[in-house]
This record gives sequence, C-alpha cells and structure tokens, in this order.
Amino acid sequence: MTTLLFATSEARPLIKTGGLADVSGALPAALRGLGIDCRLLIPGYQSVLNGVRNLAEVARFNDLKGFGEVRLLAGEMPDNGVPVYVIDYPWHYLRAGGPYQDVSGHDYPDSAWRFALLSRVAAILSSDASPIDWRADILHCNDWQTGLAPAYLKLSGGALGNPAPSLMTIHNLAYQGIFPPNMVGPLDLPVSSFGIGGVEYYGNLSFLKAGLYYADWISTVSPSYAEEIQGPELGMGMQGLLTDRRAQLTGIVNGIDILDWNPSADPHLPHHFSVRGMAGKKRCKQALQADLNLNPDADAPLFGLISRLTYQKGLDWLIDSASAILDRGGQLVVLGTGEPGIESAFRDLAAHNPGRVSATIGYDEGLSHRIEAAADMFLMPSRFEPCGLNQMYSLRYGTVPVVHATGGLRDTVEDGVTGFVFQAAEAHALRAAIHRALDTFADAKAWKAMIKAGMQRDFSWEKSAGEYAALYRRLLGQA
Ligand code: ADP
Repeated sequence: MTTLLFATSEARPLIKTGGLADVSGALPAALRGLGIDCRLLIPGYQSVLNGVRNLAEVARFNDLKGFGEVRLLAGEMPDNGVPVYVIDYPWHYLRAGGPYQDVSGHDYPDSAWRFALLSRVAAILSSDASPIDWRADILHCNDWQTGLAPAYLKLSGGALGNPAPSLMTIHNLAYQGIFPPNMVGPLDLPVSSFGIGGVEYYGNLSFLKAGLYYADWISTVSPSYAEEIQGPELGMGMQGLLTDRRAQLTGIVNGIDILDWNPSADPHLPHHFSVRGMAGKKRCKQALQADLNLNPDADAPLFGLISRLTYQKGLDWLIDSASAILDRGGQLVVLGTGEPGIESAFRDLAAHNPGRVSATIGYDEGLSHRIEAAADMFLMPSRFEPCGLNQMYSLRYGTVPVVHATGGLRDTVEDGVTGFVFQAAEAHALRAAIHRALDTFADAKAWKAMIKAGMQRDFSWEKSAGEYAALYRRLLGQA
C-alpha cells in the first residue's frame, strides 16, 4: 500500500484560517478511501493537542539543528479517524492567537522557525531516517509553511537515505514565506542553495520558492489558476520559475465536504431542503432576515457574501456596486473579517441601509451555513481566486453564484447555466452581472432551472482525490 504524508499548517476541525484547512480536513480521508495510507502532519498548537484523539508520543528528535528536543506524537483526527502526526514543541507552537498571527493580528516573529520545523519533520518522515515504524513513499506539501521540506529532501546529501518524491501544492501564491537571507544557515540550508537556482527570491529566503524549485511536481487548486500563475499578473514574481516548470505543473480543483455541506441534513440550519423540495430554503431566508434585522420581505432578492475581507476578494468593486442591488429592492448579508478599511466600509453600508444591509464582522461557521442556505445569490468578485469554496457551497445550497472569471471560479461556475460570470476586472462588470442576475431572478421559471442545474453538480472529493492519486502514481513511477 502506498504511504503518503500530507504536511499542513492547518486542518479542519482542529484549526482553520481558510480553504487550506478545508482541503486538509477532507482530502486525506478521500485518499484513504482510494486505498492510499495517507497520514497528516501538523504542528502541535493548543487546539491540535486538545482535538486529536488518542494522542501519544511515538518518537523524540534530539539532534535537529536549532531546536533541541522535539517530540513526535501520533493520534487520529476527531471526525474521520485519519491518522495524524503532531509535532509537540511548546516553545514555538503553544501560544494564544492563530497559527500565523498573534491575537492582535501581527505575524509571529519566529514564523521561519515554526514552519522550518514542520518542514524538517515532514522531510525526515519521508525518508529512511524516519524514527518510527512508518515512512512516507510520497510527501505532499501545502503552501509556504511546508515549502522547505522538498529542499531538505533534495539537499540532505545522503543524511536522509532514499528520500521520497515530493508534491508541492499552491493554495495561494500570494503568501510566500519570505525571510531575511541570514536565516539560511540557521535553518540548516546549505549556503550554496541561496541562489536563483534554489531558495533565493529577490535577495531574501522564500519558503514557497524553495518548495516550487525543489519539489518533484507542483500542483495548484484549479486548472485556470495553474495557467494564470505563469503570467506576470498573477504570478507574484514566481511566473518565470512556474513557466519553466510547466511540464510538472497540474491544476486539480478542490472538492467540498458534502456531508458538512448538505442542505438536507445541515445541523446549523433551522429548516432543511433539497432539489426535490425547496420550501425549507424559503423558510431559512425568512429566519435569517428575522435574525439579522432585515426587512421581512420574501420577494426581495437576498445577496450573500462570506469572505476574508482582503484586497484579493474584490470587495471594493462590490462596495462601489451596492447601489445596483439596493436600487432594485435587493438585500445584502455580509460575514467576514480582515482589513480594517473593508470592515468599516461594510459597517457603514449597513448603518446607512437599515433593514436592507447586514454586516457581521467576525468569524462564525454556523452563520456561514445559514447565509448559504438563505441567500438567493452569492457574491465572489475576487481579483484572483486559486479555487474558492463558497461558490461550490452556494451551488449545492441552491444559491446562485455571481463571480469574476478567475481561477477556480471560472472552472466551477458556468455562466448563464449555474451562475453569472463576469470577465473584466472592474466594478462596472460586476454591476452588469448583478443586473443580469436580478433580471433572471425576476423570471421564476428561468431562476428555478438555474438553481436546479447548480444543485445537480457533483463537487464531492472523490473525483479530485482520484486526480491526486494519478499524480502520486506518476511520481512513484518517476522516482
Ligand atoms: P480563502 O482560502 O482565500 O479564504 P476559500 O473560499 O478557499 O477562500 O475558503 C474560505 C473558507 O473560509 C470557506 O470555507 C468560507 O466559508 C470560510 N470563511 C471565510 N470567512 C469566514 C467567516 N467570517 N466566517 C465563517 N467562515 C468563513
């Protein structure tokens, strides 16, 4: 049986800041369903130590340069039982705040150390130097936090006997793990690796660049994003390397957790529905309007938005376009946190439009499900979107997505069939798409057909897991 280590800095339900956690929480289970012995590796944050079942020590590393003694624990994921290895190193991992930032939103000063350790342990467990009675045949790395692992494997100079081939998956190229060049030595990278053919990126050390350079294969989370990142606009400075490596660059669209996101059984919803009986959706809308102090108008088209509030998400275009919704009697529900300027713009919009706009600034999983169920349309005007998940949740919940033609949004929403896709990266293009959506909404028959088409699409993980399995086979054949 093929063994696979899935190294990640976040995984649902233990810890989540974004889509990576959803993928890490679901893909390993789907891979196990295909007969691959996939195990997770994650840092021992407090919520991980609390949440992993049957956690017990399985090994100690005494000689990792820069770290002293590090304990390796093993247990199982609380929901699906996937085996998980946890790095127990309280000095770097046990602290208040999130996985990357402290409670006041500042990046931790020791992030290079925190994630170099994750990368080091990932590399060791994917080699003959593994101290436990299991080693990975393949290492699957995710985002910059695990980017040094392929470098450690390739540069070990024999210390890691028979290293596994590695796959580096980009979930978002905008985050690159950039640190000063004087970290190269302390992090146990050879000085010779600090060059354009190595870990160097515009004079600094980049963890992501290391992964993209040394991994045996690269993937990203949609075919369109795989193309887009080879160009200057979305390549974030990595386009040259990615173009050079395009023969080893694959796009695989994320699946969604169809048990967690199931409108006929979702425990977060006050009423349930399915493509065969949609009355529950109307009642969810009524309940949400009441909860959020929106006018109790069953016929008002209700637009939803759930997002990290960052520049990436194109929310300035939406704020400029809000009148297109409101002037035609629509309502808008926003849930998100992020940049203070965007947060206050939505707060202001809500304050100026009582009963018609609601803005919840915060992170609330239950409310996110209730918005998906209640809304008629869902907005994702992202400037770029590697994959995006909410448009798929929306399709499954009979909520018609209005999206920018970028990345995974382009690959999962079909214009005029399951949703509305606008091409130009401009507010007026979003406005035009909102108008098209409202025109179709007014035509009950056409609207019903669109909802039905979306609800019948299959976004389960099985298909994507099969594509990853094919990629792993290719890597093993190559190794
Ligand atoms: P990204 O990874 O760029 O944040 P994705 O669409 O891939 O974007 O994934 C975002 C995930 O986080 C989705 O599951 C979305 O529902 C969830 N999410 C984002 N913001 C919030 C919030 N404020 N409250 C609840 N869930 C949120």
